[in-house]
Amino acid sequence: MTDNAKNRKKLVEHLVNQGYIQTEMVKKAMQAVPREEFIPLEQKPYAYLDRPLPIGEGQTISAPHMVAMICEELSLEEGMNVLEIGAGFGYNAAVVAELVGPTGHVYSMERIEKLVHIARDNLKRTGYAKTVTVILGDGSLGLPDHAPFNRIYVTAAAPHIPEPLKDQLAVGGKLVIPVGSPDSYQELILIEKISENEFKNINLGGVAFVPLIGEQGW
Ligand code: SAH
Repeated sequence: MTDNAKNRKKLVEHLVNQGYIQTEMVKKAMQAVPREEFIPLEQKPYAYLDRPLPIGEGQTISAPHMVAMICEELSLEEGMNVLEIGAGFGYNAAVVAELVGPTGHVYSMERIEKLVHIARDNLKRTGYAKTVTVILGDGSLGLPDHAPFNRIYVTAAAPHIPEPLKDQLAVGGKLVIPVGSPDSYQELILIEKISENEFKNINLGGVAFVPLIGEQGW
C-alpha cells in the first residue's frame, strides 16, 4: 500500500468512528477516490487531514467530513441524475460519481473558468470524466437543460434557497445547501421535494462555506 492509500484508509476509519460516514456505500466511495489528485501541489502533504484546503482564487475545498456528511444526507443511489453547484477541484463530484455509478451522472457547475479546467483535468486523470460533466456558469440558476435532478447539492453558501434549484428538483428528490451569512457561519439545510409544490426542510446544523456568487446568491 502507498502512503496515500494508507492515509486514506486511516482517514476513512476516523470518519466512520466520528459518525460522519454511516453507510458501507459512502465508506467504499471515499476509500476509492484519491483525494491527493484533487488538491494543489503545495497542499498534497495535507490530503488526508480532515480539514478544508485552499485551492487559490480565494476558494477552499471542503473538509472530508463535510463531503461524507453531504453524501450521507443525500442518500445517493446508482443511476441518479445529480447536480453539484461549486466544482472546485472536483473531489466531491468524484465521490458522488462513485455513488451513482456508470448509469448515473453528475453535472457540476463552477463559476471560475480556471477551476473548471482544473476540475475537468483532475476528473479525467482519475477516470471520472464519463460520469461527471463540469460546466462553466452561475449554478445559483441551476442547469434547466439537464433537469429534473434526483439530487442537488450546493457547496457554497447562499443567502436563501434559490427557487430555480427547487424547481429543477424531481418530486421525491433531495437538495442540500448551506444558507446564511456570506463570510463565516451558515446552516446546512436538507430539503425534500414531497410534491410539485410541497417541501420539507431539515436543519442539519452549523457549517462554514465560501459564498455562492451569482444571481440567486450574493
Ligand atoms: N465541491 C468542492 C467545493 C468547492 S468550494 C469540493 O469538492 O471540495 C465552492 C466552489 O463554489 C468554489 O470553487 C466557487 O468558485 C464556486 N462557486 C461559488 N458560487 C458559484 C456559482 N454561483 N456557480 C458555480 N460555482 C460557484
